[in-house]
Amino acid sequence: MEIAHTRNFCIIAHVDHGKTTLSDRLLEHTNTVAQRVLTDQHLDSMDLERERGITIKSHPVTMLYPSKNGTTYKLNLMDTPGHVDFSYEVSRSLAACEGALLLIDSAQGVEAQTVANAHLAFGQNLKVIPVINKIDLPGANLDLCLSQLEDILTIPAEEAILASGKAGIGIEEILEAVVERVPPPRWSDHAHTRALVFDSLYDSYRGVIAYVRVFSGEVKPGDAMLLMSNGNKSEVKEVGIFTPKMEKAQKLAAGDVGYLVSNIKDTSEIKTGDTITLAQRPATEMLPGYQEVRPMVFCGLYPVDSSDYEKLKAAMGRLRLNDAAFVFASESSVALGFGFRCGFLGLLHMEIIQERIRREHDVDIISTYPSVVYHVVTDDGALREVDNPVNLPDPGAVREIREPTIKAAIHIPNESMGDIFALIMEKRGTIDHTDTLDANRIMLTCTLPLNEILVDFNDRLKSITRGYGSMDYELGEYRQAELVKMEILINAEPVDAFASIVHREKAEGKGRELCGRLAEIIPPQMFKVAIQAAIGGKIIARDNVKEMRKDVTAKCYGGDISRKRKLLDKQKEGKKKMKQFGRVSIPSDAFIKVLKTN
Ligand code: GDP
Repeated sequence: MEIAHTRNFCIIAHVDHGKTTLSDRLLEHTNTVAQRVLTDQHLDSMDLERERGITIKSHPVTMLYPSKNGTTYKLNLMDTPGHVDFSYEVSRSLAACEGALLLIDSAQGVEAQTVANAHLAFGQNLKVIPVINKIDLPGANLDLCLSQLEDILTIPAEEAILASGKAGIGIEEILEAVVERVPPPRWSDHAHTRALVFDSLYDSYRGVIAYVRVFSGEVKPGDAMLLMSNGNKSEVKEVGIFTPKMEKAQKLAAGDVGYLVSNIKDTSEIKTGDTITLAQRPATEMLPGYQEVRPMVFCGLYPVDSSDYEKLKAAMGRLRLNDAAFVFASESSVALGFGFRCGFLGLLHMEIIQERIRREHDVDIISTYPSVVYHVVTDDGALREVDNPVNLPDPGAVREIREPTIKAAIHIPNESMGDIFALIMEKRGTIDHTDTLDANRIMLTCTLPLNEILVDFNDRLKSITRGYGSMDYELGEYRQAELVKMEILINAEPVDAFASIVHREKAEGKGRELCGRLAEIIPPQMFKVAIQAAIGGKIIARDNVKEMRKDVTAKCYGGDISRKRKLLDKQKEGKKKMKQFGRVSIPSDAFIKVLKTN
């Protein structure tokens, strides 16, 4: 098929605005998938993604559409991950397209993710086709959506298509608009073969399956391919397209979207955003936009039952095969034993990996408090990256600590303004500007430390706005802040699992709270045990473990020796799972309980 008759596009939307339903409808309308085969959500494959309504892995699909102008077009629909943690992945999927359908739920209007996604699409020079979706809903407010399109996104209202994925309204019109308005594949006249890797998948038989968009030239089995980011060479074994299942093809040509299998066995060797060229006649310039993806959020993961260590290690190894952005390395903790330090793209990514370890691999795990990556300038002027509070140099040796910030767009109803302002202040954020979205809603653009939104920011935003608030963010700059390492000491010994980097002004409150919680959960001890929070040796909060005279044999009246022994044995049994802090033994599940109640 001629390249002029190919269209590559994607659908971008705020979560729940109907992307999956509409994608399914397009596949059905083009007879790509028979109606009966369609599960409700054809493009999302992982259970967890389905449950959470988010897409992590992109699954493209090729459709054939006989247009009203008499020509049959090849339409490649790319799926984009739906969450801010994966914004680099989103940008790479967008880079593989020339156009985007921008969905807006007619009852909800424009939301934070709609704006963020639209800007990503504009940034890639895509032709954006606005679709007001779910017009079958009684609560549809078309006037509002159309004016928001113009005011917030600066897209002319007359370009909008009114549709309903569910009721099947406007489907033909959308397909015609893709053909008419989205330009044919760009950059196809480049002299050398260039293909963009926009995702990859690990298959235990075939190794890494790369999802590619060919821009110029062609690739076929037997070709010697070259990865431009690292110069690695490999042989192409198989290529094909998604129908949506993988279907072998003889070659992939300029404009095509499909998959490629080579000798590469490790996902980390073929990175999202890389450019594939041919080793004999290599291109000299990569396709634009490649970045090294770096984990932003770290935490320790430990098996609750220490005999699960090997099982946990194997589970993480398997997850990593499919997810090069997830990293881990062994570490050990005084309080929690042997485990792993893990790095993630963001909070949601962290939660997903943890849940998959629990569910799919059946290992019960505990996580330490998440930490961001700090830039620490030491006295000699050197810059160190610290992702684990335990590794922060002594305060005396630190000249300055810088923390990562985010630029957030927060959409809220007017009446929540006061409470949200207070929340942002509490989280050390600043409001850069406010914009009116409509009569009832405003958009705040703010800068916040990434660390402050890690734990409960989104939950509190949702609860203050009764579910109506939404947020999207991108990473901002590093900036200097009054940060200190706070340690928790039990019987004067530090407990590594509770060390954290906090803002100086918040340290005391946080220290008091943690000491209080530990004092409550640690079982009573034979003598007085202090729990203290300290900054650089200075105690800022303190509590005590309850005291108790625990003579387990006292109630045995001296006589029954076998019963006495049994009790003593039992006590010894209990001791095995204890961690020693000087003269004090603390059961590890006490630490686990405190970490869990966060
Ligand atoms: P996604 O998160 O953007 O992929 O959204 P889904 O396609 O999963 O849809 C979210 C919810 O909206 C589901 O409950 C759908 O049944 C519903 N939905 C999707 N499209 C329409 C539509 O056109 N009209 C109505 N009334 N509901 C829809």
